[in-house]
Amino acid sequence: MQFKTRALLELSWLAILLCSVPSPAFSQTLRIYQIDVEQGDATLLVSPSGKTLLIDSGKNGHGSRLNAVMQQAGVDTIDFFVCTHYHEDHYGGIDDLVTIEGIPVMQAYDRGDKSFLPSSTTNSSTYQDYQSAVGEQATHIMRGESIPFDPELSVVCISSGGVVLEEVNPVTGVDENDMSVSLLIQYKGFRYFIAGDIEASTEQKIADRDLALDVDVHKSNHHGSHMSSSADFMHDLKPSVIVISNGNNSKYQHPRQSTLDFYAGMEPAPAVFQTNKYLKGGKGGNVDDEFIADLETTDTDGTILITVDDSAENYTVTYRDKSKTFPVKTSTASGISVVIESVLPNPVGLDAELEEATLRNTGTAEVSMVGWRLEDRSGRIWILTSLGALPAGQSATILRNGMAMNLNNSGDDVSLFDASNQRQDQFSYAGSSEGSRIQTGH
Ligand SMILES: [Zn+2]
Repeated sequence: MQFKTRALLELSWLAILLCSVPSPAFSQTLRIYQIDVEQGDATLLVSPSGKTLLIDSGKNGHGSRLNAVMQQAGVDTIDFFVCTHYHEDHYGGIDDLVTIEGIPVMQAYDRGDKSFLPSSTTNSSTYQDYQSAVGEQATHIMRGESIPFDPELSVVCISSGGVVLEEVNPVTGVDENDMSVSLLIQYKGFRYFIAGDIEASTEQKIADRDLALDVDVHKSNHHGSHMSSSADFMHDLKPSVIVISNGNNSKYQHPRQSTLDFYAGMEPAPAVFQTNKYLKGGKGGNVDDEFIADLETTDTDGTILITVDDSAENYTVTYRDKSKTFPVKTSTASGISVVIESVLPNPVGLDAELEEATLRNTGTAEVSMVGWRLEDRSGRIWILTSLGALPAGQSATILRNGMAMNLNNSGDDVSLFDASNQRQDQFSYAGSSEGSRIQTGH
């Protein structure tokens, strides 16, 4: 009897413990919180297994806002932090989160190149606080590199410092906004593009190379500014949903009515959401109240949550008491049979330009290579999007053209991933000789 009572007691304690853990920690979904930081950016991703990726951190003093959303999400650590660029509205809050809120940041990334920053930036206390909190330990992320966020997702850097993937003779940006880190994030068939405050110049480079096509959700570049969301770029991206992180700032007047008008004229027209209502007139504007999270704009309840279901067939946008569900464009592909046919690690001429890989569609249906990639053992990649549609039974060759992955002459492992981040093929070789193509036999 004694024993039974004690076991029951322990069971009831266990039940209390289980109930006190916030339920989202157990959810098998990808969650993306566009945190209400007024005129600024802070985006928290929580993977199905509970890993966290914070992209930007709002302004000075916003650490408590970030922590409040983390508590709501049931997480207490930032596994990966990305500072897209060195403007206060993007990195100002990270030192508060670390030093005041006591949240550990395990690994930070930024766009590097700090020796070229103007003294107006490097002399500011915001920058110095950023540096001592995470910046001094931050990794310089470059185009073509990926962040090991979670094995179920891919997070690929498309641009950094104004240089984009597949740019053979890199031209760095001159404008801080344009130099923002941009990331293409994929979870099964769900695709998300986020790029800080890049403007038309970097957007055009991305569009010219077809680096970001047909996404589900896009965080509007530069808070819906008229300097961003250029036509070629947006027509490539074709997002079903756009989320604008904005405040109520009369100087910037974000989002611009002209940008909202452009979004509304796209075909098909995306559903556009704002974190806050803009109330200061001028050239700024608003979507319908129905799609705005914080209508008063003075408080902190304008966070927008996107939840992707575990099969990645649908995702839901949640804010206030509203909830809207959208289908994922590319549901997880089945029966695909594209293989690595051959590689050329040691071409006659420059490796960085002339290395090649040939892929073959061994199936019976055409396969779109949009969002596919090759990845080596160090995690560097080639994006295969530019191969377009690969007809059944045919082969296509991709040239390295300055992309990050280096097919090592002395041997390497190369994996082929589809747009849903599923590994479709894998090939290893132990060496190479100049000018000779290695057949995989696949
Ligand atoms: Zn900004």
